[in-house]
Amino acid sequence: MTIRKNDLRIDEKRFWASMARSAEIGKGRTTGLSRLALGDSDKEMRDIFVGWCREAGLEVTVDRMGSIFARRPGRENDLPPVLVGSHLDTQIAAGNYDGILGVLGGLELIRSLNDAGIETRRPIELVDWANEEGARFNPPMLASGVFAGVHQLDWALGRADLKGVTYGSELQRIGYAGEAPVGGRKIDAYFELHIEQGPILDEKKIPVGVVTGGFATRGMKVKVKGETAHTGPTPMDRRRNALVGAAYLICALNEIGWRYHPEGGKSTCAQLEIWPNLTGILPEWSVVVMDFRHPTIEGVERMRQEVEAAIPEAAKKANVEMEIIETWRFGDEAFDPDCIALLRDAARTLDITYLDMQSQAGHDAYNMTRICPTAMLFAPCDKGISHNEAETMAPEDAFPGVNVLMHAVLARANR
Ligand SMILES: [Zn+2]
Repeated sequence: MTIRKNDLRIDEKRFWASMARSAEIGKGRTTGLSRLALGDSDKEMRDIFVGWCREAGLEVTVDRMGSIFARRPGRENDLPPVLVGSHLDTQIAAGNYDGILGVLGGLELIRSLNDAGIETRRPIELVDWANEEGARFNPPMLASGVFAGVHQLDWALGRADLKGVTYGSELQRIGYAGEAPVGGRKIDAYFELHIEQGPILDEKKIPVGVVTGGFATRGMKVKVKGETAHTGPTPMDRRRNALVGAAYLICALNEIGWRYHPEGGKSTCAQLEIWPNLTGILPEWSVVVMDFRHPTIEGVERMRQEVEAAIPEAAKKANVEMEIIETWRFGDEAFDPDCIALLRDAARTLDITYLDMQSQAGHDAYNMTRICPTAMLFAPCDKGISHNEAETMAPEDAFPGVNVLMHAVLARANR
């Protein structure tokens, strides 16, 4: 029996069973997941995922950054593949959906094409990008960044977690230091499904968001240099407390976020290192990790000027020195009009309502825009709660996105 293209749908039960299995690996404190990149639970999930890919007849390779690729051949197997996927790692206190939806949705669409006996002209590859979250190894989207030429391989392998353990040594330990070169090959297009991580789709009761681009985001690490001294006798005018400097800066950053709030801007400091972080001694240094984002590039650049002006002011106020030691950016990249059109067409074919929207979070797709036509779609999550153990979504909210993804990938792979 051949299935008419427009009748093709995923196997909802099988897909949701795979999502449920993933939710058992690396359980969080209460509900949800805590599956940090390259930890034991990440390894366990990878092993299961690789097993599923092989069962689906896919050829699995792992690259030197530990990203897993699973390939379904095309009729013209020398053509560059259509790549689909996201990430299986999670934040330290995460839900069960995040990028997992995009990886297991990609797997399900391939299983469904297999069931329907549908061949494609181009190969289709499924990817689980390593260390998307950056929760353990900074920066986020690390492996896709190397794949797209944003970062150098050796630099990325040398990134260390807070205990000083390097990315490269952890990859070896869990058995996922692959041999495939990272990137350097032609990709026809990249599609990524992800939960929205914001409240818009859930509030509007729209099942699919077609992502047209991202919020322009700038990040920086600022090192604050003070001096250790006794917390008792040292007079106020002789103190060089690195934590106080960091605190002034963090408050200034937060106020900048509020100033841009009416335009949709936002600012974040979510990580602070202090040394020695003990009572009785003033901190010698601290590192403030911060970012800020805005719907437009012009807007984020205005924010950047204000942040850069706030740094010397905070330093002066606390009698310390400050230096920007690292910067990064994402979200300026434009998604591909043809790939976006394929997602919209697929939604119309399936009679699924969609909304065009901007992504406010960072995604591996941003890196991929640098090397191939790229598009993303969002599925709603309950109240937009994400990076929280309470992150949840109803199965009925997940299926439309995976079906749209399948039809768009199929159309692109047959182009
Ligand atoms: Zn994610």
